[in-house]
Amino acid sequence: MPDFAIGVDMGGTNLRVAAVSSDGQMLQKINLSTNLSVRPDVVVDAMCEAIQRLMNQHRGGGTLLGAGFGIAGIIDLEAGVVRKSANVPSWCGYPVRDAIEKRLGTRIFLENDAKVHALGEQWLGAGRGSSEMALLTLGTGIGGAIVLDGKIFHGLHGMAGEFGHVTIEPEGVPCGCGNRGCAERYASATALVRMAREAIATGNAPELARAAGSEPEFSAKLIYELAMKGDEPARRIFHNFGRALGILLADIVNILNLKMYVIGGGVASAWDAFAPTMFEELRRRSIIYAASVPDEMQGDAEGAALNIDRTLQKTIITRAVLGSDAGLYGAAKLAMG
Ligand SMILES: [Zn+2]
Repeated sequence: MPDFAIGVDMGGTNLRVAAVSSDGQMLQKINLSTNLSVRPDVVVDAMCEAIQRLMNQHRGGGTLLGAGFGIAGIIDLEAGVVRKSANVPSWCGYPVRDAIEKRLGTRIFLENDAKVHALGEQWLGAGRGSSEMALLTLGTGIGGAIVLDGKIFHGLHGMAGEFGHVTIEPEGVPCGCGNRGCAERYASATALVRMAREAIATGNAPELARAAGSEPEFSAKLIYELAMKGDEPARRIFHNFGRALGILLADIVNILNLKMYVIGGGVASAWDAFAPTMFEELRRRSIIYAASVPDEMQGDAEGAALNIDRTLQKTIITRAVLGSDAGLYGAAKLAMG
């Protein structure tokens, strides 16, 4: 039996715990209904109880290599403390590593949730076989990670890859980070709902207004469904979304010049609605992307006109494939070293 590690995904809304074998098999997965907004100690108790159960069940099979945690927010990796968490403010300043280590008595590893997503996709998903890639997760906001030589690139404060707060509109919508016009104000679930509400307020988006009125939770999914039915105001919202994401990606591609960029998170499932505009914008704004567009993205005649160099390795921009399990695989991988 192969050795195994525990992976924990503490996203903004839910808490999931899994046992993953060292050869990448999901052995068991537990979804905890614990509300993350209650006291951190209560959450950690419930989480550690579930982890203990998994450890006991799988211990006979192989050696436990450790437990890895993907946590939403900014983590001080040295101190093992959550410094900032927009989704779960009660965790700010909480010494999460000590609290967990005390209860479990095993080696534990912390990381930001988008960064463990990236590790998961790189290990077993869209980035498999690529030791260098960047990941963007489109959810409530935009998470990001850069993987170099198979490892997360942290930067000085563990904050490298904060793609969501790259400015794309100098005088744009204010952001919680203190800046204006951050990418996540235009290309996230929150941004979709804001743009829909603004469209409704003009009086020119009757279908959106009807959807917003009939559903208690007016969601990005409803806007997507309308866009796919051809509703013009909803389509325009995804056009703006794709444009914003294309501008952001163009900057990232120009700075990093990696082979692989993976787009994940819940809102990535609206790919059909935003990707055409995203690629158009990206080609227009990134000289590196335009010169290395994959063949299937570019007709031959157009390619010749743009002087595309066929000998250059292609830049790949693609959807994540592991869904929400990416975080569990990546967190477990973190503990495997
Ligand atoms: Zn911001």
